[in-house]
Amino acid sequence: MPQKPPRICACGHRVANGIRCPCERKSDAERKARHDKNRKSSSARGYTGTWDKERKEFLKRHPRCKRCGGKADTVDHIIPHRGNSEIFWDRRNWAPLCTNCHSSAKQREERRSTKRT
Ligand SMILES: [Zn+2]
Ligand SMILES: [Zn+2]
Repeated sequence: MPQKPPRICACGHRVANGIRCPCERKSDAERKARHDKNRKSSSARGYTGTWDKERKEFLKRHPRCKRCGGKADTVDHIIPHRGNSEIFWDRRNWAPLCTNCHSSAKQREERRSTKRT
């Protein structure tokens, strides 16, 4: 079978037939990365959108900070969810907190986790 002649890529490279030019491979990778990124950010958007809605409803029902009785504007996870969606969405694990109490709770939690490691 006669060999097909090499082709000239748009970038000016001579490329053996049936082979992707490095510039084409690069743009393939870029397209794929862009696609992955879009998919990731859209799923993240959906997640935060739902959380935002659920959080607001929870705060409507539990408007007082669990610790100081002030105005709650944050939903804290009593058990740190660490990315576990079951723990994350378990309402029994939610606590209404004001910003102050929430940030001090988070600091305490961070101290605890740095001690462990
Ligand atoms: Zn090329
Ligand atoms: Zn508070």
